Amino acid sequence: MIKTDVIIIGGGATGCGIARDLALRGIPHCLIEKGDFAAGATGACHGLLHSGGRYVVSDPHSAKECYDENIILRRIGEKCVEQTGGLFVRLPGDSKLYRDRFLKSCEKIGIPAEIISSTKALDLVPNLNPDIEEAVKVPDCSIDPFRLCMLNIISSQKRDGIIFTRHKVTEIIKEHGRCVGVKAADQVSGELREIHGNVIINATGAWSHLVAQLAGNEVPLTLSKGSLVITNHRLTNMVINRMRPSADGDIIVPNEAVCLAGTTSLAVEDPDKIRIESQEVDTIISEAGRMIPHFNDTRIIRAFSGVRPLLKSAKADSREITRGFQIFNHGDGMYSIVGGKLTTFRLMAEKTVDTVMDYFKLKKPCETADIPLEGQEELSGYPLAKRLADMKNIVCECELVSRAEVERIIKQTGTRYVGDISHRTRLGMGPCQGGFCTFRALGIMHEKSIISPEQSMNALRDFLQRRFRGIRFCLWGDQLREEQLVEYIYMGILALEKK
Ligand SMILES: Cc1cc2nc3c(=O)[nH]c(=O)nc-3n(C[C@H](O)[C@H](O)[C@H](O)COP(=O)(O)OP(=O)(O)OC[C@H]3O[C@@H](n4cnc5c(N)ncnc54)[C@H](O)[C@@H]3O)c2cc1C
Repeated sequence: MIKTDVIIIGGGATGCGIARDLALRGIPHCLIEKGDFAAGATGACHGLLHSGGRYVVSDPHSAKECYDENIILRRIGEKCVEQTGGLFVRLPGDSKLYRDRFLKSCEKIGIPAEIISSTKALDLVPNLNPDIEEAVKVPDCSIDPFRLCMLNIISSQKRDGIIFTRHKVTEIIKEHGRCVGVKAADQVSGELREIHGNVIINATGAWSHLVAQLAGNEVPLTLSKGSLVITNHRLTNMVINRMRPSADGDIIVPNEAVCLAGTTSLAVEDPDKIRIESQEVDTIISEAGRMIPHFNDTRIIRAFSGVRPLLKSAKADSREITRGFQIFNHGDGMYSIVGGKLTTFRLMAEKTVDTVMDYFKLKKPCETADIPLEGQEELSGYPLAKRLADMKNIVCECELVSRAEVERIIKQTGTRYVGDISHRTRLGMGPCQGGFCTFRALGIMHEKSIISPEQSMNALRDFLQRRFRGIRFCLWGDQLREEQLVEYIYMGILALEKK
């Protein structure tokens, strides 16, 4: 049995941010995540570090939180935030009145917003629709959500934080009406671990009502599914938003070598039962194509969905629900943190840990806004220049991931999952979507005696199957040809269908 002070359930941005904050304030803690870090909404988002522009008219309080956090993250995460800047583009027919409200609201909150002509906008982003009326420039940025989680975890690990990934909390242990610990099932071996603590923080996003129920508590949530598509290369180096009230398909975010376009917003009941609809993919592509016409003839490599954990609201359109957050003190030693954005994860963590400090009657103030994220140098290993310098023995050609890098991750994490390597190196995230690198990565794991040949075949099947769930909505043109080739390799040469 493990004993600690604070148990954090959930390894998305919020949970990882809480672990870092607790670590910097010297509070012993243990984080438990059922998948890898960023397995929920965090890993399924655009990676847009909001300037606040998107919410400035409808939800000024959240917009201000986003802008303040945007400034902080640019400062503490200099090496992992790409300061792309963003444009809100007004297309013919988009209301000028909305643009005026947008500018007025930005001014009120203090978000820098500069109107630029269509000519200037086209100079900045040559792929933009030449028919745009004008654009407004804002300080939007782009961030890799997987890397963000891992950078937060480094601070926790350096200060003896206990971290369990691939462990699902299945039971909350209660004694005399108080939560005193959890039981977590190892998702690989099935072994059950018991961890005891004084405080339990439920940071499980769209699953928080389910985890709260384990202790007999309730969390009022509205679940909203959003889908995104990924292009095989960058069509813009700036974030592009549509100048109109939030609607389907009005954001394009450059991230690493690709662009992510989205999103949709559909109410769902069960976060584990979501699927992409081909209608969503069509809408996103055609709406994105109105801002960047090349979108219509660019190769789409995959689609995916995530679930937004929004505070419960009676509003029929989940787009109108606040992006603010709330901490629920269940009164039995469990706290749930719900709502917010990836952009505001640090603030959410700060407020949650402030509450924990009050519980322990401790005074140490939060330092997460002042201390730069540790490990940025090593984890900023993604930039192309660094990858090109290490061209020997490439395992993933699309994302230039070397064998040495794959071996380093296997040694560091002891993982049996290709997804874990992918989240840390971008292996399998390029146009072939793992077609040429999955079997090589598994070959390396096998060589290092991490997995048996049979386990590697199961892992291969599992990874490809997961990828295919998103690829199947993008099968036309080059992506269809690529997928056929991948199918021949796996079904033909590797005889994968014959179990
Ligand atoms: C399509 C989409 C696009 C978005 N785009 C953006 C954007 O560009 N910018 C932005 O700021 N925000 C964006 N958001 C919102 C943002 O992604 C979320 O608000 C944020 O990531 C939530 O983080 P979280 O850590 O609270 O939840 P999550 O990331 O969902 O983390 C919860 C974690 O809990 C784990 N968990 C659940 N149950 C258990 C259990 N029993 N035991 C152990 N672990 C468990 C899950 O595996 C998961 O990893 C987007 C959301 C969606 C859906």
